[in-house]
Amino acid sequence: MNEHKSQFKQSLPDKPGLLFVVQKHQGRNLHYDFRLEVNGVLKSWALPKGPSLDPAVKRLAVPVEDHPVEYADFEGVISAGQYGAGPVMVWDHGTYTPEDSADVSASLENGELKFVLYGQKLRGSWVLVRTRNDNWLLIKHRDVYAAREDVTELEPRSVVSGRLLSEILADEGHDAKVKGSRQYT
Ligand code: MN
Repeated sequence: MNEHKSQFKQSLPDKPGLLFVVQKHQGRNLHYDFRLEVNGVLKSWALPKGPSLDPAVKRLAVPVEDHPVEYADFEGVISAGQYGAGPVMVWDHGTYTPEDSADVSASLENGELKFVLYGQKLRGSWVLVRTRNDNWLLIKHRDVYAAREDVTELEPRSVVSGRLLSEILADEGHDAKVKGSRQYT
């Protein structure tokens, strides 16, 4: 089906901790849903530009509704007519550990959560901080995993299947060509 698949292996989190997942989602607009397991649900933020490994870059993270933990595995196509209709891929996943305090809910309530990600694309220390207008920023801390390269450009594919969004659409029988002005990657 696709030649890229063999480069990727199914992988489970390799470190203890809570689950995190980043789902690349082409709804009305392309965005990356960043989700952290907190008290049995996935706290979620939509990143219009995705995460950046560059500590100088602050990425807008708009809070969106909690999702059930089981949704972390979802890769496929949300049907036309449903909210968020379009392809979804598991762009990165793994575990995270909070850095300051074990009480992630309290940190989020206070508007600042520092944490370490153990993913395949995203690793090392990060912070989510709330801004005055109730949006959040996702920022990479300086460490050995910081980089100037654009990880969303360099690593566009699913970590579970090796597919692009266009291939996920095609696999489910959807037209993966450009629809209107959309370009699926
Ligand atoms: Mn989404």
